[in-house]
Amino acid sequence: MSDLIAAAATPPGAGGVGILRLSGPGAARAAAAVFHPAGSLALTEAPDRQLLYGSVLDRQGAVIDTGLAFVSRAPHSYTGEDTAELQCHGSPMVLSLALEALYAQGARQALPGEFTKRAFLNGKLDLTQAEAVIDLIDAETPAAARQAAGRLEGALSRRISAIYDGLVDLSAHFHAVLDYPDEDIDPFRAETISAALTTALEGVSALLATYDRGRQLTAGLPTAIVGRPNAGKSSLLNALVGYDRAIVTQLPGTTRDTIEARATLGGVLLNLTDTAGLRDAGDEAEQLGVARSRAAAREAQLILLVLDGSAPLTPEDREAMDLAKVAPACICLVNKSDLPQALDPEALAGEFPHLCPVSAKTQAGLEELGARIAALFPQGDTSGGEALLTNARQVDAVRRAEADLLQAWVGLEAGMPPDLLLSDVEAALQALGEVTGTTLREDITSRIFQRFCVGK
Ligand code: GDP
Repeated sequence: MSDLIAAAATPPGAGGVGILRLSGPGAARAAAAVFHPAGSLALTEAPDRQLLYGSVLDRQGAVIDTGLAFVSRAPHSYTGEDTAELQCHGSPMVLSLALEALYAQGARQALPGEFTKRAFLNGKLDLTQAEAVIDLIDAETPAAARQAAGRLEGALSRRISAIYDGLVDLSAHFHAVLDYPDEDIDPFRAETISAALTTALEGVSALLATYDRGRQLTAGLPTAIVGRPNAGKSSLLNALVGYDRAIVTQLPGTTRDTIEARATLGGVLLNLTDTAGLRDAGDEAEQLGVARSRAAAREAQLILLVLDGSAPLTPEDREAMDLAKVAPACICLVNKSDLPQALDPEALAGEFPHLCPVSAKTQAGLEELGARIAALFPQGDTSGGEALLTNARQVDAVRRAEADLLQAWVGLEAGMPPDLLLSDVEAALQALGEVTGTTLREDITSRIFQRFCVGK
């Protein structure tokens, strides 16, 4: 893993600035072969992170650009290795020629995510922070960006560490008593163990409870668009997404299966599912579509019920209305507000407190819809300090930790011997350690000697 890697850090295509990054042994030397400073200070001699102005060269030594360069030596760099950066103009040709010149100096093309992976392997970032880097890059709402930035600064790591550290203390105590019976160490007391396990369990379940919100920020709020055929569901989806994602025709039942798309409305990222009409399905494919629609509606946190305001309610509308009412949140959209209206919003308001006239065709009312969504799902409290679980990998590990802790707790209540409880606590530590990528043994060993002064 100690080879020299290089890659463009800026996206493909033309732009104001294009950045090449190098990491690994010889980064400064390779960069110096491709960059000649205008001043007398050589790049290899420059202090860490001091920008030098100069010329960028191709592999034949011909000048292809002017730009800036700096080096940052191990361990004070993003990856923890020797690194260098060349800031050229954002010309794909310049970047490609300069990269070729770097390859000629022994660098190889970096693999996707390899800089951040090296940062993790060298202890510069833990796993939650490494994941935060990619979440920050992919953030689609201000709240998602703030949340990822908080995790990058270690908000989730700190929360996990608080639980982890309590368990390491407990485990270290177990080890000390079991391994050094002659030392003068406090014996176990069931209440102490029980209190430590309870604290850890509370911490773990509070953490698991953050997942709904964490997933919302990164994957979008599960939102189903429900309504009878021809009410305007596909048109609404297209209006929200901003391009023609779904086919819109005048024939009822065009959307035979569910269609998914993401859109941000009122600052909330929505994971939208346009459900097939809920009418009695004809062929098998359509039946399948209807079944999927019902499943999407059941799993949704928000249902956008679409009614055709230009026509009286039908039994199919009623069916969709009943389905929508059971969702955790529902907004009733009286669509086609650009046409003469047959529906009375006041009559519907009793059943649907969140009512919004819209026109998918003219896009009237969509801003009001955004405001209602923002009010129902406030995003403002997602400051960097709020630590949320945001992906299935984290949740899986924390759930396993919870199961192990519960087992330890049940064992304690049943009067099991400490060494059996210990293995459950260690399994929980292992699982929690997976979230941040921490290793277990070293921690425990060092704590034993630090805290209990065994062997003096
Ligand atoms: P779906 O079956 O519920 O997905 O409905 P569609 O989105 O396919 O729309 C059915 C028909 O209604 C199409 O002809 C649309 O152009 C039309 N439509 C949808 N929304 C509006 C609207 O806001 N105003 C008007 N005038 N027509 C609309």
